[in-house]
Amino acid sequence: MSQSNNKAMVEGLVDRLVCENLKVLVPYESARRLFAASDNSQDAQVPVWLNANESPFANDYELDCDRLNRYPDCQPSSVIKFYAAYAGVNNKQLLVSRGADEGIELLIRAFCTPGQDRILICPPTYGMYAISAETCNVGVEIAPLNNDFSLDIDAIKSFKDAVNIVFICSPNNPTGTRVAAEQIEQVLEHFSDSALVVVDEAYIEFDLQSTFAPRLTDYPNLVILRTLSKAFALAGIRCGFTLANEAIIHTLLKVIAPYPMPEPVAQIAAQALSANGLRLMNEQVKAIADEKSKLKQSLQILPGIELIGDDKANFILFRCGQKQALMDFLVSNKMFIRDQSKQRNLANCLRITVGSVQQNAQLLALINQFYQTLGTPA
Ligand SMILES: *Cc1c(COP(=O)(O)O)cnc(C)c1O
Repeated sequence: MSQSNNKAMVEGLVDRLVCENLKVLVPYESARRLFAASDNSQDAQVPVWLNANESPFANDYELDCDRLNRYPDCQPSSVIKFYAAYAGVNNKQLLVSRGADEGIELLIRAFCTPGQDRILICPPTYGMYAISAETCNVGVEIAPLNNDFSLDIDAIKSFKDAVNIVFICSPNNPTGTRVAAEQIEQVLEHFSDSALVVVDEAYIEFDLQSTFAPRLTDYPNLVILRTLSKAFALAGIRCGFTLANEAIIHTLLKVIAPYPMPEPVAQIAAQALSANGLRLMNEQVKAIADEKSKLKQSLQILPGIELIGDDKANFILFRCGQKQALMDFLVSNKMFIRDQSKQRNLANCLRITVGSVQQNAQLLALINQFYQTLGTPA
């Protein structure tokens, strides 16, 4: 069979068999996928990645290979024990998974019936809630944030009995805003007998006082998502946590893979959560906070730039009239930040991850150069 015939046949077969709800979907445009092509050119300029809210720090870990011939524990006990202590919950209120992203998917698979149930999201927010729902053939309802990025409580409440899960992100990506505790409490109470309320705390180390982890005992329907990808500087190992009451965790364990956590991941996570690991994380969070306020001050004084939202996480969001020209100029200099302008209410908005001292200086130099060549407005 010729190659082109074979290709046509495979495509025909895929078209016939693929799940109906997947036909319209396109793969998630992760920060990494978006610029993959820009990463392999020959010239000497080192690309700077400030587009995925990763940590600029790459820390060292040790690996013990003695157990690599064995399947790993489904829920490695040292990781569970250390994270439970760190988060102030008990071991049975905790699930470890391949990133918080897998936690999102497990929640949808365990608590939403495909083709029937729906989730509620509050955009502008993290994209994976809707994407996970769509890949599972679960509907997505929307209660947009208010103009000040607070929750629209009345809109959210109107979905009582219409949704199985409400996703709230705090600090919110990409606005950097914290959702007021009273608002989260209102949502938890309103849905207490009808839906899970998932508070995504991926950035909580940058705003630790606002965590809802101590409230698990107050609210049966509260679920909290955490990750080692941001403050812990371990996006590369894919390790996240779901905190919830025991019956919820028990149900998630029904849908998780039998061996989701590779042994090296468990070893590295345990080291990151040791006393030394936590100390290092706290130092790095402080360093990022210092850099964030310096970066904000420098951006604020530029005439073309308006800071948007807040700075409760490790990134800065801003609006800029020359958004596309600035983006193109940065990309041509191998400086990658994230375009958020397609999100609701975020026209012309770009998001910068706070990087290392040197990376931030490079970014500022480029932005200043961009505005100089434009000519400063009178
Ligand atoms: C980065 C991020 C995640 C994903 O975390 P992983 O553990 O890397 O899967 C989840 N939620 C939000 C809001 C994020 O920004």
